[in-house]
Formats: sequence, C-alpha cells, structure tokens
Amino acid sequence: MKLPSLNFATKLAIALSLFAVLPLTLVGYSLSVLNLNTLKNLSRELYLAVAKNVALRLEQRAQDAAKLLFDTAQILDNRSLSPSDVVHMISTSMANYPDIHTIGVYDEQGQLIDAFVKSSPAPLPKVFPQPLRAGLDSLPSVLHVADEFQVATKWMIDKKFAGYLLTQLDHRALASWIGEVSAQTFSGARDRIYLLDAHLRLFAHTDTALAAQHLSLLGKGLFEGFQQPEDVLRAKAVGVSREYIGVRSEAMLGTWLAVPSLQVVIVVEEPQRIAYFSVHEMQRRVLYGSLAGIVLSIGVSVFLARWLNTPITQLVSAAQRLISQDFSFRLPTQRHDEFGPVFRAYNDAAETLERYQKINIDRVIAERNKLDAALRQASDGMIVLDAAQRVILVNHLFAKWFSLHEKDLSASPEPFEYYITHEPLRRHIESVYACSDTVVPAEFRVQMVGEVREIVLRGSFVRVLHAGELIAVLGALRNVTKEVEIDRMKTELVSLVAHELRSPLATINGFSSFIIENPALPSDTREIATIIYKESERLGNIVTKFLDLNRIESGRTEIQRIAFKLHDVIRTVVEINRPLADAKHIRVELALPSASTTLSGDPELIGQVVLNLFSNAVKYSPPNTTVRIQMLEHQHEMEVSVQDEGYGISASAKEKLFSKFFRAVDDERVRSVTGTGLGLAFVKEVVEKHGGKVGVESELYKGSRFWFTLPK
Ligand code: ADP
Repeated sequence: MKLPSLNFATKLAIALSLFAVLPLTLVGYSLSVLNLNTLKNLSRELYLAVAKNVALRLEQRAQDAAKLLFDTAQILDNRSLSPSDVVHMISTSMANYPDIHTIGVYDEQGQLIDAFVKSSPAPLPKVFPQPLRAGLDSLPSVLHVADEFQVATKWMIDKKFAGYLLTQLDHRALASWIGEVSAQTFSGARDRIYLLDAHLRLFAHTDTALAAQHLSLLGKGLFEGFQQPEDVLRAKAVGVSREYIGVRSEAMLGTWLAVPSLQVVIVVEEPQRIAYFSVHEMQRRVLYGSLAGIVLSIGVSVFLARWLNTPITQLVSAAQRLISQDFSFRLPTQRHDEFGPVFRAYNDAAETLERYQKINIDRVIAERNKLDAALRQASDGMIVLDAAQRVILVNHLFAKWFSLHEKDLSASPEPFEYYITHEPLRRHIESVYACSDTVVPAEFRVQMVGEVREIVLRGSFVRVLHAGELIAVLGALRNVTKEVEIDRMKTELVSLVAHELRSPLATINGFSSFIIENPALPSDTREIATIIYKESERLGNIVTKFLDLNRIESGRTEIQRIAFKLHDVIRTVVEINRPLADAKHIRVELALPSASTTLSGDPELIGQVVLNLFSNAVKYSPPNTTVRIQMLEHQHEMEVSVQDEGYGISASAKEKLFSKFFRAVDDERVRSVTGTGLGLAFVKEVVEKHGGKVGVESELYKGSRFWFTLPK
C-alpha cells in the first residue's frame, strides 16, 4: 500500500496529536493495572470474609446439632418418661432444627439400635463410625465429615455409658444452604462457595452431580503445591487469593479457608472474567478510548493542517504559474487573515508582469517582423538552425536555392518543419555540428530550374555557443556565380596572354644574350642587354610559374601516382640547392629519417614544393642564420617543416599568403628580394591535390615555420 504523501503541517499535526494522546493512554493503562491489584486485594478480603461467615454458620449448625443430641440424651436418660413421651419430646426438639432429619441411637458396641426420623433422611450408617468413636473419648461431642456431615455424642443411662447418638446434616441440604449464601453474596450465582472434606474431596457443591464424584482437589488448581490434606488443614496461609483453573476448567480467582474444628475447607471463588470484569472493562475502554482519541485527533489535525495549508498550496501553485510565465492567474482577495495582503501583493505583481509581458510580446513581434523583413530583403541566403538541427529561420533566397518550402514565419508559432533534401547541404550542416571550428566555410554548386549553368554559392556557417554549449548554427551564402565566372575568364585571359608572351620573350631572351655574349659590341649596349636579359628572364619565370600553377589548378596537369620516398626527395632537392644557402652563409640543418613509408604521388611536384619552401626560407632570411628542414612520420601522414630565422610574416599577411601574386612586404628587406608571389599558391595547390594540408607559424622579425602534410 502506498501512503499518500503528507505535507509538513499534516505530519506535524499527526505527530503532536500522537504525543498528546499516547501519555493519556499510558496513564489510563497504568491506572487500570493499579486497579487490578487493588481489585485482587479487595476480592481476597471479600472471599475471606465470606468464607469466615460460612465457617461461623457451619460451626453454629454443628453446635446446634450437638445441642440437640445432648437434649436427646437427657430425654432418653429420663426414667420417668413413657416411651411415647420420649418419642414426642424428641420429635418436638427435632422440629426446631430444620437441617436435622434423623438421629441414630447406637448401643455400646456401636450397633444401630434405633432412630428418630423426621423426614426422608439420608440412610444412617449401621455401625457407628470409628473416627467418631475415638474422638468421643476425650470430647462431649464430635464432628465428622466423610460422606455426610456427622455430629455425635455419647448417651448415658444413670451415669453409665449406654451408647452413642448420631445425627447428620444432609450434604445435599448443606449444598443448597451454601448455594443460597453464595447467591446472596455473589448476586445470584450459587456455585461460588463450596465445601471440601478433610481429604480435600468435593463435599458440598451446588452442582450435585459434580459433588457426587467426590473429586479430590489435592495438588490441583487452588491447592497446587499441597501434597497432604493435613497440610491444608494446618496451613497458615489462609485467605491467599490465587488464580487457577477451576473444577469446570475455567480461569478462576479464589481463596480457601480451612476449618479444622469442622474438618472442612471452605472454598470461595469467582471466574476471573467476572472478578476482573470491571478492570478488564476499564482497560478495554482505555484502549478503545485511546484508539478513538488517536483516530479522532489525527483526523481533526489532518483536517486542520489541510485547512491551514490551503492558502500556502494556493500560493505555491500561483508561484509555479508565474514561473511558467502564466501571468493571468489571480488569487482570491476576500481573505481577512494574514494571507490577505500576501495574496493581494501577488495579484499586483502578476498584473504588472502581465502588462510587461504584453508590451514585450508586442515588441518581440515587431522585432521579428523587422528581422523577417531584413532577412527577406537580404541579398544573401540565410538559415538558422537550433541545437537539434531543426531549421528555425530561413529566408526566401536560401529556401529558393535549396528548394526549402518557406512557411509564413510570423503566422505560425510552431517550430518550422523544414526538411533539407539537398544532399550536399545536409552533409555540410551535419559536419558543422560535428566539428569544433567556430566558422566553417562553405561552397555549393546548385542547378536551378530554368538556369543553363549551375550557380555557385559561397559563404560560411557559424556555430553559436552559449556557456560552451552549441545553441544554434547560422549559415549565410552569397551567389558568387558571376565572380567565379569573371575570375575564370580573367585566369583564362591571363593564361592566354602569358602563353602568347612566351615566344616574344624567348626572342627577347635570345637576342639579349646574343648581344651580351658579343664582345664586339660596346660595353654600354651589352650592359643594357644584360638588364633586358635579366628582366626577360624574370618575366619568363613568372609566366612559367603562372602557367604551371594554372595547369594544376584547372586540372589540365594530371597528378601522377608514383611510389616515392619523401625523405629521398627532400634530401635531393636540398642538396642540389644548398649553394643558394651557402651564398648567404646560411646553415642548413636536415633532420630526416633514414627510412620512411613509401608514398604515392608526384615526386616531381613535391620536389618543387620543397624547393619553394626552402628557397623562400633562404630568400627571406638575413645571412648567417639557420634553416632547418625536418620530416616526421606520423600514424596517418608525413609532416615536413621548413623553419628559418628570417624576417617573418605579420598576422594580417598570413591570411593571404597562399593566394596568387601576394607578397608580404611588412619587412623592408622583402621588397629587395625578387619574387612572383606565386610560389606558395603553387605549394598549396600541389599539396591539396595530394590530399594534404599546408600551414605557417610565423612572427615578424623572428622567423617562420612553413609546414605541409601528405597522407600515407
Ligand atoms: P615569392 O617568394 O616569389 O614572392 P611566394 O608565393 O613564394 O612568392 O611567397 C609569397 C610571399 O610570402 C613572399 O613574397 C614573402 O613576402 C612571403 N614569404 C614566403 N616565404 C617566407 C619566409 N620563409 N619568410 C618570410 N616571408 C616569406
């Protein structure tokens, strides 16, 4: 069973009521226990008193019987009386003793010789009982309780022993008399008092059938612990109340009184259920009362706690609605207790908040409309996705490019369900979520319906973080089809021009070298021819490099896939070109592995890459410095780096370093170095075509470290 969860006030109330009721219960119970002891004492006194009373009355009867016997003896001794007078007188005396129905006359030998009978007597013994005979030697009258309650005297004729007189109190009559005493004492119950004979056998009991069994109680129930009847008769511990199982197998409380003079034991007892009734009743009432008290007080306290708790519950639920930004809820204001002002204050606060919320909502809607308008008019395509990659905002252009169905943004408060079907866009967005860069550049080629050519979209996706968590991704793309086209045309044009320049350049070169080498010509002419030769050489160099680069870029030069050892290529290139360094007294350090994994690619082009980086390092370093070329083999790639102690590159120049014709001229000395600004663009192109990466770390005036990787 699941207990209902109780609030604090209810628990407190229950605990307090338990605390209040439990001591009362304990007090009630202790009182009832005290009462039980008192009751036991009282009943002992009562039983003892009753037993003594019975004993007195029994003795009285015995004495009466003895007196009747003495009177009878005297009548019998009176010689002057005629037999009929004797009978008459004895009958008259017997009439005064309702208990006595018969008197037996025995001769000296103890033989029954005559009897005076009043009414249906219990049969007299034929022979005078021996125990009585022994007793009469010392006493005038004796009493014997065996089967009957017998009283006997001697009788004399002329002072001479003539025999015995015996009468007996009928045990049935005795039982009925005791039953009456019991009924008087114990409000009608006749079986609370009974008699035992000197052998502790049941003698007179209102239940005659039980009495007829002469059941011995020695060692049982009330007499537990007594082995001999004499012990009981002599016992001093009279009037001890005991609890025991009675003759009718019922739990009893009772006491006994031994009357040695009468040779009887009087038992007074009561069933415990009756004797203790009042105490048990009291205990029951204490228990039921306490239980009822507990239930009632818990009920009342729970009710009170709930009642007291109601305003608090109302406040809590009101506060929860505030938290969930429901400001329309109001608390009842007609309270006059201390919650009244609190409720009113809450209502005021909710009202103010509701007003602000409305103003805010209006403002937010206005802002969104503005944002929507701005997005609509933007010449860039834009998209915003939430942390779960759902599109939450997209403008018309973007939706058109990627066939996203555009919903009316202002009308629907639901999250916009756009499904991106354009596979490259979908993959790109997934990669943006997976990567860790803040800005991820993007380029797409999209075939629009009704357009002859694909359009080129270029831009970037930005990851928006809040407290280190990605909360949104913004994408902005621009249609750069025209720029790309112009770029392409430009490149084509330039390469056409460059191509066309080759033959005139060769001619200029040839003729100028002819002039230089002709000693017959004047030295001025030859000097000028030298300048022409150098410049044409330089121009030729640019043209060659440009055309090389262009061929690779446009894919006209196929990248060969030949197996080669990178460390061999590097060593060869550096060794051949070492004189470049030597001329400037630049030390060259080569840190190459003695063996490396074979790579597949174009060793010719890779050699040119290495040469470019090496010659740059030498070109852009002052004399007496060191250039260090290192190759490392990693798990999945090779890494080559060329480090110098040269002029270095500024941060702003670094970004454009790998684009065509760019030359960083932060340092004055760079200007004096001849160059085309095509070398690094070539490096990048070749490395990337091989699936590798290039990069640079550099600090102005301190040196640079150019590196590239090639996959294994
Ligand atoms: P070039 O060397 O022919 O000018 P590159 O494309 O090889 O063309 O280099 C582009 C520019 O990058 C150079 O003009 C120079 O300003 C800068 N640069 C290249 N390598 C280095 C280097 N090792 N140290 C400093 N600057 C360098």
